[in-house]
Amino acid sequence: MVSILHKFGEKAKIIGGGTDIYGLANRGLLSHVDALVDISRLALSNVKTSDRYLRIGASTTLSELSTSPSLKEASLGAIGDALTQTRPIQVKNAATVAGCICSGLPFFDLPIALLALDASVRVYGRNGYRKIPLEKFFLGYFSVDLKRGEFVTEIDVPKHSLPAGSAFQKFAITGDDWAIVNAAASLSVSSNGRCKSARIVIGGAVGPTPVRVTRAEKLLLGETPATETFRKASEEAAREIQPDTDIRASAEYRKKLCKVIVERSLKQAYSRVKMRTR
Ligand SMILES: Cc1cc2nc3c(=O)[nH]c(=O)nc-3n(C[C@H](O)[C@H](O)[C@H](O)COP(=O)(O)OP(=O)(O)OC[C@H]3O[C@@H](n4cnc5c(N)ncnc54)[C@H](O)[C@@H]3O)c2cc1C
Repeated sequence: MVSILHKFGEKAKIIGGGTDIYGLANRGLLSHVDALVDISRLALSNVKTSDRYLRIGASTTLSELSTSPSLKEASLGAIGDALTQTRPIQVKNAATVAGCICSGLPFFDLPIALLALDASVRVYGRNGYRKIPLEKFFLGYFSVDLKRGEFVTEIDVPKHSLPAGSAFQKFAITGDDWAIVNAAASLSVSSNGRCKSARIVIGGAVGPTPVRVTRAEKLLLGETPATETFRKASEEAAREIQPDTDIRASAEYRKKLCKVIVERSLKQAYSRVKMRTR
């Protein structure tokens, strides 16, 4: 596999479910590709879980992942939310988790949830394996940190040792459309009831890669989670992003939506911390 990818270089493309590749080919954007490399027989379709991690094989389809019982855990709630809001089912039955990430598009849903959960990507190539935080894996539109000959084998999601919860929210024109803005939040809480860690990630056309809003996250640290704290953090999140205007929405509208869906994500994530389930 690696030698084929190496041999063809830029002229090779791995095919997962093909749902993104098919669209690119239809628009004539893959005329430079000579080899489609099928990885479906590498036994990379599996979901493993323990107290410390969730490991998702690269070829696992979105539908297969959505049936994993682990997604009922409060800390992983954002993944289940993102999969519920990814449509249609025909796409979910074919699309793979690695394909969803390696498309390198900032408005897909699952990557936003995985980023909020601090996931990493495991990549295999000529020099063996390397592990890359998902946050560093996205380089720009259609661009991820894969070197010649490399491919993704697995996505690792760490689990919190403290009580934790996460949630994902999306706003789109229709149920089947891509997000105008989507967002995910993950919180963990210490025994004194204060927020120990917070991650908030926003997607949609808010930049060439999904955006982590660290100033908003800092407003939550050490605080007792409450409506007012969530409101302040979501307002800060909206200030931190520089959205685009496109056919779906104006930049100004995206900022307003960002505030609303970040606040909803935080509230839902915290309600899951308390319920301990999704
Ligand atoms: C009609 C339609 C509706 C959609 N709606 C939504 C939606 O509501 N929400 C949403 O988030 N997304 C949506 N999508 C996008 C969908 O999520 C992606 O098309 C899909 O996740 C891509 O996965 P795939 O396995 O089909 O990728 P492929 O098309 O097979 O590949 C995509 C890219 O990833 C690369 N790749 C694949 N696997 C690997 C690997 N293991 N290692 C390295 N590179 C790899 C390929 O070379 C290619 O560059 C929609 C798509 C369609 C067609």
